[in-house]
Amino acid sequence: MKNPGTLLLFCGPSGSGKTTIVRHLLTVRNDLAFSVSATTRPKRENEIHGKDYYFISVDEFKKKIDAGEFIEWEQVYQGLYYGTLQEEIERLWKENKTVVFDVDVQGGQRIKNIFGDRVLAVFVMPPDIHELHRRLRARNSETPESFGARIAKSEKELGYADRFDKVIVNDILEKSLEEAERLAAEFLDTKH
Ligand code: ADP
Ligand code: 5GP
Repeated sequence: MKNPGTLLLFCGPSGSGKTTIVRHLLTVRNDLAFSVSATTRPKRENEIHGKDYYFISVDEFKKKIDAGEFIEWEQVYQGLYYGTLQEEIERLWKENKTVVFDVDVQGGQRIKNIFGDRVLAVFVMPPDIHELHRRLRARNSETPESFGARIAKSEKELGYADRFDKVIVNDILEKSLEEAERLAAEFLDTKH
């Protein structure tokens, strides 16, 4: 890609707090913008098409794969596809924004490999696995089946933390939000 800008990447198991942290950063820094991914998963009640995700059919998703529109995509859960659109990143860079991602660990590694030191890759770690389960349950967003898939995947994902540039242990939320702000500021100060 021409003229690469900067990117901030947040990965970690479902329920670790990525969305909470990313949303906070987007409210406190207007030089950041969220990379809206495409997905085939059903929309949750509180989600908005074009803001949280582009919710599309499996057919549309496969057409985009064939057309080379994704810089990375993954079947994150059985039958559910998620992918980062090249056009989305280019659009946000044109607006001089730092692009913020919330992607799974594999997708995160791929983005890190593509953009190298233009990306700060942060792993969001739950304080422990029981608390992760508790938060996921409290979020009340999952069916028993999707809950089980998320728990099974999280155990693998936790082993990847040391491949990231930084780790935030998301115990006390307020501290995690401050830490995320500090890491973003430190990284972006060196790049601009
Ligand atoms: P993810 O995007 O990683 O799946 P979320 O940001 O949706 O995770 O967080 C999962 C749930 O846990 C949400 O209901 C959120 O409000 C809650 N949560 C996030 N961070 C904390 C924290 N430090 N302490 C308690 N609850 C938290
Ligand atoms: P959720 O369904 O809870 O929104 O997200 C499930 C998982 O998919 C999370 O780990 C999230 O980070 C990941 N995800 C969201 N968008 C993308 C994407 O574009 N690419 C990849 N590889 N993973 C994504």
